[in-house]
Amino acid sequence: MKGILKKRKKILPSSLTLAYKRPLHIVRGNCQFLFDKNGRKYLDGINNIQHVGHSHPKISAAAYDQMQKLNTNTRYLDQHVVNYAENLLKTLPKKLSVCFFTNSGSESNDLALRLARAYTKSCDTIVLEGAYHGHTESLINISPYKYNGPGGFASPKYVYEIPIPDIKKGKYVGEDAEKKYFKSLSANVESIRFKGQKPIFIFESFMGCGGQLPLPKEFLTKGHDLVQKNGGLCIADEIQTGFGRLGKHFWGFEFFNIEPDIVTLGKSMGNGFPLSAVVTTEKIAKNFDNGMEYFNSFGGNPVSSVVGNTVLKIISEEGLQSNAEIVGQYLKKMLLELKQKSSLIGDVRGEGLFLGIEISDFENNQAPLPAIANKIINEMRAKCILLSVDGLKKNIIKIKPPLPFNKENADFLVGNLEKVIFSF
Ligand code: PMP
Repeated sequence: MKGILKKRKKILPSSLTLAYKRPLHIVRGNCQFLFDKNGRKYLDGINNIQHVGHSHPKISAAAYDQMQKLNTNTRYLDQHVVNYAENLLKTLPKKLSVCFFTNSGSESNDLALRLARAYTKSCDTIVLEGAYHGHTESLINISPYKYNGPGGFASPKYVYEIPIPDIKKGKYVGEDAEKKYFKSLSANVESIRFKGQKPIFIFESFMGCGGQLPLPKEFLTKGHDLVQKNGGLCIADEIQTGFGRLGKHFWGFEFFNIEPDIVTLGKSMGNGFPLSAVVTTEKIAKNFDNGMEYFNSFGGNPVSSVVGNTVLKIISEEGLQSNAEIVGQYLKKMLLELKQKSSLIGDVRGEGLFLGIEISDFENNQAPLPAIANKIINEMRAKCILLSVDGLKKNIIKIKPPLPFNKENADFLVGNLEKVIFSF
């Protein structure tokens, strides 16, 4: 391992970080488990990309089979890409009827911005404090998680940031909090309109890097409608939350009864194979077709399409969405019980297998405890359970495992978490 670390330090950028104080050398994965080079088995509570499980045999077989036959690009007629687009669209509202295929979440959000800017003829973008939408220049510019963080910068003038709508710990709390966050959004819509522009609103219905935070219902529902009423467009970033992870619904925005104009997908879509998409309305897609070709060397290629289709099939065949709902509820209930016993847990939130545990100091007005949160995940790693920390104050322990995660795994996780928390 030292050899890899040494080489990595020398020839990979130092801005690439490693998880945990004692880095892991993982050599194999199976379902919801990872194995290090000594054969030690870890319960994976965090890799949401390997959605249907690590090294799923049906995915490797499908990719291998198609790779042996053909892998080209979308300039040829191909049955797989249209089959996949059709199956994907069946999971989405009717008005979202056109798929652009890409290769990473960042690529999807970058393209979504291009589509929205071309349609609204405006750049003015409303974003949520704490949000992350990708690593390209265009996306770092609209990601407060990055531009407000270490190495950050002043956001461009076209970015309108509103406070993270956390009704328990955010800028506004209490009864009127939700209304106040909405007011902040509507004030920004008004400023954009005043300039003669139209708003573009990008959001995750359940914030990932923002700390596994479900957006308040009325805030998002009303905010979404307000943006659309003002001639603007709503982009739902489902890169972390999509494909049944949240249990009750296949997509995060469905919890809010809204129909965004553009939805961006990624991560779990290919179970680790680089595959992502932007889905939008026919009108927005047509408007983008101004003569300039949309070509993407890899996006929508036959192997990607076969892999994507196989992921959809496995989610349905193995009942993974309902597993996320049932096991997620079970896990959340146990975490809430642990919260009752521990003064270190300030909040437990999320849906399905997308949960967050806030680590804060009950005796000190629930002040965030990022160092303790970090200590907890390192102790959990020593107990062979993988979790991570995120959120505005870096005090939210994130749980977002591969969806085959079961009740026994939940018992193991919470049992060990209790031991770790009470060892402080
Ligand atoms: N949007 C969200 C919500 C994300 O969490 C991420 C990645 N963490 C991205 C976009 C960017 O995706 P990628 O890393 O595949 O470019």
